Amino acid sequence: MGKKKICICVGHGRNAWGRYDPGAVSKDGSYHEHKIARKIAKYAADYLGCDLMNYDGRLCLSGRIKAVNAGSWDFVADIHLNAGGGTGTEVYYYHGSPTGKRAADEICKSISQALGVRNRGAKVRLNSAGRDYFGFIRQTRPCAILVETVFIDSDSDLAKIKTEEGCKKCGIAIGKALEKALNEGNAK
Ligand SMILES: [Zn+2]
Repeated sequence: MGKKKICICVGHGRNAWGRYDPGAVSKDGSYHEHKIARKIAKYAADYLGCDLMNYDGRLCLSGRIKAVNAGSWDFVADIHLNAGGGTGTEVYYYHGSPTGKRAADEICKSISQALGVRNRGAKVRLNSAGRDYFGFIRQTRPCAILVETVFIDSDSDLAKIKTEEGCKKCGIAIGKALEKALNEGNAK
């Protein structure tokens, strides 16, 4: 089997009604999830030499899902920042997918080490029907993960990625982790 075709997607940017959707914001409102996520995603895609989707923020969630399903990628990752009062990095994967789990594990480890943030681990989140909670994971055809890089509403986490240098570190950490996770088992 050859090299996996990867697409890195940027979370948020536009809501279903066509309005700007910043995603989560920092405590003081000056940092937007979409704007930081797109820098991180671009560094990851540049590192991997793979496709990058929604850098311009023109696609809402259903638009990204549609675009993913219209493409020929083997693996897709949607890049986000977390919020809600925690700290650290966590990655969600499609339940029962060994490839998704391996990628999620590697990304958590890689971001945690590169930025010096807590590793919250690879996770599965199901809805009340027992299906995957996140639409990006549930409704996409390729193996999909959702990366919650760090918490934008934590001052200590935000400090790690609010600079260009921080976004670069985080993006490259994601790229290296995917390179390792998705090439395992392939002859080098
Ligand atoms: Zn988000």
